[in-house]
Amino acid sequence: MDFQIPESVESLRKQMREFVESEIIPLEKHYDYETGRMPENINQQARAKVKAAGFWTPHLSKKEGGLGLDQLGTCIIFSELGRSPIAPYIFNCDAPDEGNMHLLALAATDKQKELILHPLCEGTLRTGFAMTEPSPGAGSDPTSLQTNAEKVGDKFILNGRKWYCTGANGAKYIIVMAKVNGSFRKTTMFLVPTTAKGYTMVREIGLMGSHGPGGHCELNFENVEVPEDMVLGRVGEGFRLSQERLGPARLTHCMRWTGLARRALSIAREYAKEREVFSSKIAEHQGIQWLFAECATEIEMGFLLTLKAGWLLQTGQDARQEISMAKWKVSESLCKTVDTAIQICGGKGYSRDLPLELFYRDARAARIADGPSEVHKMVIGRNYVSGKWDA
Ligand SMILES: Cc1cc2nc3c(=O)[nH]c(=O)nc-3n(C[C@H](O)[C@H](O)[C@H](O)COP(=O)(O)OP(=O)(O)OC[C@H]3O[C@@H](n4cnc5c(N)ncnc54)[C@H](O)[C@@H]3O)c2cc1C
Repeated sequence: MDFQIPESVESLRKQMREFVESEIIPLEKHYDYETGRMPENINQQARAKVKAAGFWTPHLSKKEGGLGLDQLGTCIIFSELGRSPIAPYIFNCDAPDEGNMHLLALAATDKQKELILHPLCEGTLRTGFAMTEPSPGAGSDPTSLQTNAEKVGDKFILNGRKWYCTGANGAKYIIVMAKVNGSFRKTTMFLVPTTAKGYTMVREIGLMGSHGPGGHCELNFENVEVPEDMVLGRVGEGFRLSQERLGPARLTHCMRWTGLARRALSIAREYAKEREVFSSKIAEHQGIQWLFAECATEIEMGFLLTLKAGWLLQTGQDARQEISMAKWKVSESLCKTVDTAIQICGGKGYSRDLPLELFYRDARAARIADGPSEVHKMVIGRNYVSGKWDA
């Protein structure tokens, strides 16, 4: 077992840390608390800087304009840029576009790549991924899927309602999961342009954290015609492809969340080393050192799980159990770490003089999105009990 970071990745990691510290974190002051997003002109200027620095879409191969990193390199670089919640969009590797790029690279036809993937990699369009539905539709349990596509001649007629589609406001295409002719077994992914007749972006859902550039939206599909050549992959491949998308996408969430947790803890360390209470620095009190110990260990455990899952993916092995473990552990540690950091910083931690209150609200989604903690624990436990996976 080799824990040494390759020299080329380590050098890139240092450059990324420096770039995020000097070019990205200072922009956080522009974050608009009213709208829950960054001003788009600031984002665009920063994106131009990222491109000029050669860090654009870091997860892609060099041929596609990225850094040509393997899974482990991606873990290390993403956890650096995750230190700022505004960085992933600026580097063009935010959810859902980053996962959608991976999916399209895997399953899109040349025409679909031309239409969607290439502009997505260049950052000239955005996309959404619509799986979740309002009750009684699909959420934690995908078998409740209601959205349906009826095959009529050489077209599909799509009907259904989705919600929590991240980035849908202003997106050009939505990847929609739907049954075909009422058959769950034939669940398929459809590429729907947001200009299609019968498509409505009903609303941006009001929520506690950031909205990103395109919010988290509720969508309606009423008799939307989708031509056959806008099926992604083949009819009936929806769930297989969603696993291909969600596994690595959950892991890239873990990488970004590791960066955010590390930054939160380091903000608390700075405060605790400087502020004095009861005749000694806060950091000198053992009760506080134990809090740092708990959070630092949690972050490290989560990151090691993330690296192991990344290594399994990189070596072509089944990583589903470890991805669930990482998703559960890292999301829970992020929430615990940010909460602890606020506690250590006292009133200042709760105020907007520090970014921790924003991290706190953003972090809360991590335990729900892409499978709630309870669902990942169910999967982990089932695999253990059945003997499919052993500890
Ligand atoms: C910020 C954010 C962004 C999102 N982006 C997208 C997106 O882009 N595209 C998309 O399709 N979806 C997206 N989602 C939706 C997300 O994937 C769902 O919220 C999630 O899968 C849970 O589904 P649900 O909300 O319907 O919860 P429900 O299915 O209603 O579950 C509610 C709760 O029930 C409990 N529960 C569920 N199953 C079990 C079980 N087996 N055992 C014990 N308890 C259980 C859990 O506590 C769970 O939180 C996003 C969500 C958030 C918060």
